[in-house]
Amino acid sequence: MVHPLFPGSFDPPTLGHLDLCRRGLRLFGRLTVAVAENAGKHPLFTLQERLDLLERCLGGLEGLSITSFRGLVVDHARAHGHDILLRGLRDTQDFEYEYRMALTNRELAPEIETLFLMPSLEYTFTSSSLMKEILACGGDVSAFLPPEVLEVLRDRNDRT
Ligand code: ADP
Repeated sequence: MVHPLFPGSFDPPTLGHLDLCRRGLRLFGRLTVAVAENAGKHPLFTLQERLDLLERCLGGLEGLSITSFRGLVVDHARAHGHDILLRGLRDTQDFEYEYRMALTNRELAPEIETLFLMPSLEYTFTSSSLMKEILACGGDVSAFLPPEVLEVLRDRNDRT
């Protein structure tokens, strides 16, 4: 039985991520979302916040679990019996990066396959990094982020 892992930074989780989770879950009946401890140079949310947000957004879905990892994703996948890495493909820029990552991960762990899913067309241009740029300029991100994430961002704004 396949046991897919969907790794990423999820800083913040977007509607595109949720779309991909639902598609993965529909295909496989179960899915583990793995949040990378390191979310790059300018994280918007801490690891615990990103885990909490994903739990709020996806907690009710049967077959879905949420965890975190540090270091190589293939080491985490191996240690927890995952045979598939699920990743999203939005455009050719994703393709170039993801293709290299997938082949590198296969070199490191030949028994683990990377599978790609495309999101719904409306989320093709949604990325966490773009969300951070819009937020930094005070823009409206409500079309791209789950209500649970928007609520936390609003609370944060009210406190500052
Ligand atoms: P990473 O730092 O690992 O790229 P991200 O959270 O940015 O972490 O992305 C995790 C995965 O989710 C990647 O495979 C990425 O292509 C995919 N992804 C991100 N946004 C979307 C989206 N809008 N539609 C489909 N896949 C997406």
